[in-house]
Amino acid sequence: MAKLLEGKPIAERIKEEIREQALSLRVKPVLASVMMGDDPGAVSYSKSQARVAQELGIEYQPHNLKANTTETHLLDFIKKLNTNKSVHGIIIQNPVPAQVDYKKLSSFIDPGKDIEGIHPGNIGKLIFGGSRLIPCTAYAVMELILASGVDLYGKEAVIVGHSEIVGKPLALLLLERFATVTVCHIGTSKAGKLEGHVKRAEILIVAVGCPGLIKGAWVKEGSVVIDVGINRVGDNIVGDVEFTAAEKRAAYITPVPGGVGPLTVVMLMRNLIEAIKSQQSGEYV
Ligand code: NDP
Repeated sequence: MAKLLEGKPIAERIKEEIREQALSLRVKPVLASVMMGDDPGAVSYSKSQARVAQELGIEYQPHNLKANTTETHLLDFIKKLNTNKSVHGIIIQNPVPAQVDYKKLSSFIDPGKDIEGIHPGNIGKLIFGGSRLIPCTAYAVMELILASGVDLYGKEAVIVGHSEIVGKPLALLLLERFATVTVCHIGTSKAGKLEGHVKRAEILIVAVGCPGLIKGAWVKEGSVVIDVGINRVGDNIVGDVEFTAAEKRAAYITPVPGGVGPLTVVMLMRNLIEAIKSQQSGEYV
């Protein structure tokens, strides 16, 4: 039976590190959140950011704009946050309304304040290794894998899902640690090859948003399974992996909820601290 990789104890340890590091910063960290409209997912994510910020002595500044805010107005608003010296980090709550081009927006945030790690400059730095502002969910997944104590060197790592915020950055982070990385996506499934790839995964990360996509019987004996998926099924929240069958085969597995989720916001705050350190040292992040 697999050991559970729970996010909460790791999150508590990282919060402790953040508190200690924040003491040496000489400023109260300020995080500006920009939300357009009132998407329930964005509202809930923003509430948990505000709660964690408060716990850590970080000032959380919510900026709630109307859902019909024009892209031009929004970009002007972000420009002001970029140049406001009292703001150290910026997060744009997703989803943004249809009139706003998210990719354009992400390149508009000052890369030194981009604590979500979505600016093309920060994403580009992942290629070279040693990047400091890492997309939070991918960063959270890496913390969970490292917590298992499994050495990634030469391991077969299979990622299912190739989004910009999870699968793609994760592939680069795993490569940095010399895992052999395979990235699967809709094309892999349509070609009927998903099962074959999953079956040889010593490290399996699934970030799709499709309940039960990964059958428990596909999970390799003794593997590490990180389930990023969040799906509402009736009254329950479940992941993308058939948990009950998978935990009988894996050595380590994340629960859903309670695995990746509790860590994501904490990684955002860790990025904020890194951003402030770079801002204070004058180093380009
Ligand atoms: P996206 O929708 O951006 O990406 C989903 C990915 O899955 C795409 O690459 C897509 O490929 C791929 N995909 C879709 N269907 C299949 C399939 N049948 N077989 C293989 N691949 C498939 O989602 P996100 O990356 O934003 O999120 C993924 C999941 O993780 C969601 O459930 C989300 O709620 C959850 N999540 C959880 C977080 C947490 O903190 N725990 C944080 C962020 C996300 P293609 O694009 O080619 O169709």
